Amino acid sequence: MLVNRKAAGRVASGHPWIFSSDVVDRGAAAPGDAVRVVDPGGRLLGTAHYSSSSLISLRMLSRRPQAVDSAFLLGRLQAAEAHRRLVVRGSDAYRVVFGEADQLPGLVVDRYGDCLVMQTLDQGMDRQTAAIAECLVEIFTPRAVVARNDASVRSREGLPLETRVLYGQVPEDVRVTMNGLRLQVDLMGGQKTGIFLDQRENHLAAARWARGKALDCFTCTGGFALHIAAQCETVEAVDSSAAALETARTNAEANGISNIHFLEANAFDLLAGHAAAGRRFQTIVLDPPAFAKSRSAIEGALRGYREINLRGLKLLDAGGVLITCSCSHHVSEAMLLEAVAQASLDAGRTVRVLERRTQALDHPILLTVPETHYLKCLVLQVV
Ligand code: SAH
Repeated sequence: MLVNRKAAGRVASGHPWIFSSDVVDRGAAAPGDAVRVVDPGGRLLGTAHYSSSSLISLRMLSRRPQAVDSAFLLGRLQAAEAHRRLVVRGSDAYRVVFGEADQLPGLVVDRYGDCLVMQTLDQGMDRQTAAIAECLVEIFTPRAVVARNDASVRSREGLPLETRVLYGQVPEDVRVTMNGLRLQVDLMGGQKTGIFLDQRENHLAAARWARGKALDCFTCTGGFALHIAAQCETVEAVDSSAAALETARTNAEANGISNIHFLEANAFDLLAGHAAAGRRFQTIVLDPPAFAKSRSAIEGALRGYREINLRGLKLLDAGGVLITCSCSHHVSEAMLLEAVAQASLDAGRTVRVLERRTQALDHPILLTVPETHYLKCLVLQVV
């Protein structure tokens, strides 16, 4: 497949995506084919998966001519798991494959104990589903492999949204052990692939700083709340999803935690109500869903982050801790810091930075692929 100079430059700069406007000649490539990519000078750039419908036409798999077969996939998957053995501590739930960051663009694999959940997010990886599942069975001998292909990005690839079991049987009750907590996971229906694994290390960090009366906004299945409960008098944990809260409650009970009060509510309204009622907290967690899903949404997202952090800061006592997150790739850490700084001025509070954190190490960040760095987590303290 022939691409222009711009695409060649992009590949040379270490980025695996080639946009459809930079493809000069598609040849006879069929949707999802592994193709050889060539620059205008006839030089081979490498091997890529071709998508016939996405704006991202090519995702580089290798800088060499490469048969994309079971042996290739097995090698990449084994390398990904080997890295997790180095970086994952205290959890049998973690991300085994993080797409581009593991040189397997379009593929996500999460491990939950002896079950695996995979997502194939482009045409090429989707066609390799059976081969990938076989490799996973070989590496992990799991009880089940599930395809959670209900992620909306698949629509851009013309792929159906569906969830199905590819191998084995999913147990009624999937439980994992993370940071000393026993957690139930809804593999087939939970948000993302079940748990927000990317916050695993930030949950521990939060537990180091949390105390007093705490408020965990956007708690989902209780990630932060469950981790900080032992350090706090009480935790109010809020989410708009009843199903997520149901799992969170089960998890609290299973771990003998009784000082969390779960509440189904809109976090924005709840924060406003608490301010009006003069409620005070010593610890607040803000972990909202991505406010900026595209570049054009950045301005609106920054207003959202300013607003929510303003509301949070107003509720904190002096000395109080704010753990505030953004999972929008388009909002950089610098932008988030600035939004929260503005919020602190508006709230009339002086705020110091205790920690600047990011996604857990099983979601690796590649230096030349900025999209792989998406999660920001600031631990702040009101002076
Ligand atoms: N803190 C969680 C992950 C949060 S994901 C953890 O560490 O595991 C974001 C959550 O925000 C989702 O559970 C979603 O249901 C919830 N949510 C989205 N909009 C909301 C709103 N307006 N009010 C409250 N919760 C909301």
